[in-house]
Amino acid sequence: MSQYWTDLVNSLDPYTPGEQPQDQQYIKLNTNENPYPPSPKVIEAIDNYVKERLRLYPDPESTELRRVLADRFCVGIDEVFIGNGSDEVLAHAFQAFFQRDKPLLFPDISYSFYPVYCGLYRIDYQTIPLREDFSIAVEDYAIDNGGIILPNPNAPTSRLLELDRIETLCRNCAGVVIIDEAYIDFGGESAISLTSRYDNLLVIQTFSKSRSLAGLRVGYAIGQPPLIEALNRIKNSFNSYPIDSLAQTAAIASLGDNDHFEDSCRRIIETRQWMVEELGGLGFEVLPSAANFVLARHATERAQDLYSRLKDNGVLVRYFNKPRIDNYLRITVGTDGEVENLMQNLRALIADS
Ligand code: PMP
Repeated sequence: MSQYWTDLVNSLDPYTPGEQPQDQQYIKLNTNENPYPPSPKVIEAIDNYVKERLRLYPDPESTELRRVLADRFCVGIDEVFIGNGSDEVLAHAFQAFFQRDKPLLFPDISYSFYPVYCGLYRIDYQTIPLREDFSIAVEDYAIDNGGIILPNPNAPTSRLLELDRIETLCRNCAGVVIIDEAYIDFGGESAISLTSRYDNLLVIQTFSKSRSLAGLRVGYAIGQPPLIEALNRIKNSFNSYPIDSLAQTAAIASLGDNDHFEDSCRRIIETRQWMVEELGGLGFEVLPSAANFVLARHATERAQDLYSRLKDNGVLVRYFNKPRIDNYLRITVGTDGEVENLMQNLRALIADS
């Protein structure tokens, strides 16, 4: 706290990302990163770009990247917005659509950045409890509101919401509905196909998870042109060049290697199935996951103890000290080797206590 801070800075409660300790090498199953490298074509494209064109400013409109995404999703180029990670796209969307006199609605257990943006942009919000089984009850959102946002699959629950339920939300909401699809490629069906029918629907995706490019920081939104124009108005009042040239180049190269993308998603889905079975065998209850992570609780062991003891053994998982999920662990699906190591550790820890 300082005398120079404004009331806004003073009131902020910033987001805390998953820990990235530097003291030793960990098996990192705590931030939902992809365990496999990106396509070799990404590395080659970056390499070529660095030699030729790094002295130039990037294309402020990310035109080529938007064109490739528009082709992939069969939408117009004016229906695509690019941001510096989907977190930045989300931030702009909160500012563009949710500063209303009615509250924004999102689930009580959801991405913990949402309330942080509400604090930054002074947005009133109301959380809607998930059902007992952590599924989303869309009928509970049929109340007066200034917009709706939810991740699908939800994070950190990993549960998927069906497209017809998303349509119900869009139909019943007078404001904008944002579906945050950071994890959709690991087992869900995207709501992008609905954007032509619902002018209040914005779908946000990222290159961070299924395309193994979390370090690159590229996310995007798809929606009808007026929604995209709103995002551009905010972006161009904030930073004209948020997507650097390497990020644009590498993202385009990644979209050009669909085999690599599909192969890495398939491997993660296979490992997830095996991981769920193994965890079940060790006495964990695991929520049905459509993401590259699972949320699990043990019949007798306390989640916080397991988290600390795993960390002592060099395995990082995520523990949230929050209501309703404070006895769960969120575990990212790693390589088979990483998951095997996790299981060996859990077996020993559980047998020990
Ligand atoms: N949405 C959800 C639900 C997430 O879990 C994350 C990752 N923390 C993001 C968005 C942001 O991802 P990125 O900024 O890397 O695109």
